[in-house]
Amino acid sequence: MGLKVMFVSSEVAPFAKTGGLGDVVGALPKALHRRGIDVRVVMPLYAGMNWDALEKLDGPLRIPMWWGTARSGVRLGRLPGSEVPIYFLEYHRYFDRPYLYGPPGSGYDDNVERFTYLSRGALELTKAINFLPDVIHANDWQTALVPVYVNTVEWAQPLHGAATVYTIHNLAYQGIADSGALSITGLGREHYNSGEFEHFGTLNLTKGALRHSTMLSTVSPSYAKEIQTPDFGCGLDGVLHARHGDLVGILNGIDVDEWNPATDPHIAAQYTAARIEGKSACKAALQTEAGLPLDPRIPLFSAVGRLTHQKGFDVLAHSMDRVLSWDLQFVLLGNGDREAEQYFRTLSARRPDRFRAWLGFDNHLAHRIEAGADFFVMPSRFEPCGLSQMYSLRYGTLPIARATGGLIDTVQTYDQATGAGTGFVFGDLTPDALANTIGWALSTFFDRPDHVNIMRKRAMEQDFSWDAAAETYERLYLDAYRHRRGHAFPGRLLAEARRTA
Ligand code: ADP
Repeated sequence: MGLKVMFVSSEVAPFAKTGGLGDVVGALPKALHRRGIDVRVVMPLYAGMNWDALEKLDGPLRIPMWWGTARSGVRLGRLPGSEVPIYFLEYHRYFDRPYLYGPPGSGYDDNVERFTYLSRGALELTKAINFLPDVIHANDWQTALVPVYVNTVEWAQPLHGAATVYTIHNLAYQGIADSGALSITGLGREHYNSGEFEHFGTLNLTKGALRHSTMLSTVSPSYAKEIQTPDFGCGLDGVLHARHGDLVGILNGIDVDEWNPATDPHIAAQYTAARIEGKSACKAALQTEAGLPLDPRIPLFSAVGRLTHQKGFDVLAHSMDRVLSWDLQFVLLGNGDREAEQYFRTLSARRPDRFRAWLGFDNHLAHRIEAGADFFVMPSRFEPCGLSQMYSLRYGTLPIARATGGLIDTVQTYDQATGAGTGFVFGDLTPDALANTIGWALSTFFDRPDHVNIMRKRAMEQDFSWDAAAETYERLYLDAYRHRRGHAFPGRLLAEARRTA
């Protein structure tokens, strides 16, 4: 008998994605399936998906809502490249819209209602298809009601025996609404208290999940510690600290097939740690594409990311005058904040000899930058896990990273005495600290090229596949099961887990 796990998520790549959440739920279930876990996924059917490629199941599925019953369609597909079933809840009034959550910078007014539907609907689906999971895995505020419903509306029902795991992908988004929105969830007023949903006078869905889930996780060990402190807890540090014994940090994996310099079809030449010559061709191609002087001896720095407060590009902007006074080149790909876009566009026009910015979203260009650059700059204010630094390491492009969250767990700072390390890490998020660290990388490039070469090779040999993460999640599920049921999971997997422990 194998463990049964139901994933609930508002994003699953490649079907729908706005960030790391989608990547995780698109990849982790496949790695769990390879370990013999019976895993399924449920998400909404959004506009823009290839609806016709999905099998329509007999319906309708009846989902209780505050206003009555939502009669929903259900479609079935598979996670690409796997046998993992993924169920799509079809309700056009909520999800046939241009955006997942609302236009940039704002949210749809009825988001609590839309994701109440998803959370409640996932449980109704589970019952309708007769899949009684050992663990239900909810992700971020959009599915925060799942563990609450398991403890309340499912009380004394078969689903009540399921353990719940709630993963925080980014604590900055919590699902906050007016207290009156509680009635939309169908839960009684008695749940509006400071131990459940009430948080400083508002309704906070995440807080409800933190209180009700059997176990909690987040996407890196360092972020798990940080969110228990006022600086990173976004107001929920006390709630998280109170449950620190049930909170684990599990580093995300990356898609090692898509991000593989040995096979990447988007780059000028493929390369490996043992045969790295191709990287020079990628650098030359990137210099040409950026309109920068073609010169292998000039170090090429890069940055790719959302231009938001989280990513610290404002700090980079403040260090740019100093950085561009040095003998280096810098390329940047990003979009988001209008002011930041304008700043980098102007800088690009002012310093075409050393700096090039692309303001937009372009995945193929992100690949060419990872392959062509020497260094990759990530001055994040906070970083739950971060993927780009792992891509950089895999492409032998040494990260220059702020010591926060997942960056701490993935980048080892350079030791000038020994040549140890895989990147350049700095602590204070100030223009000076960032510029000094870029300067440190620059001097290392010129003065200790052998160290750069050793670090590159070391970086490229790191293992960031999902298989390691899946093993840790499996252990978390077994723990959650034991907490919920009061006894260990009675299956083959447990015996295996014991053997490997
Ligand atoms: P976050 O999920 O917080 O945005 P991550 O580092 O975890 O940060 O993941 C960012 C992902 O988005 C990476 O795959 C990165 O290459 C990609 N990305 C971000 N901005 C852009 C852009 N403007 N163009 C192409 N890819 C981008």
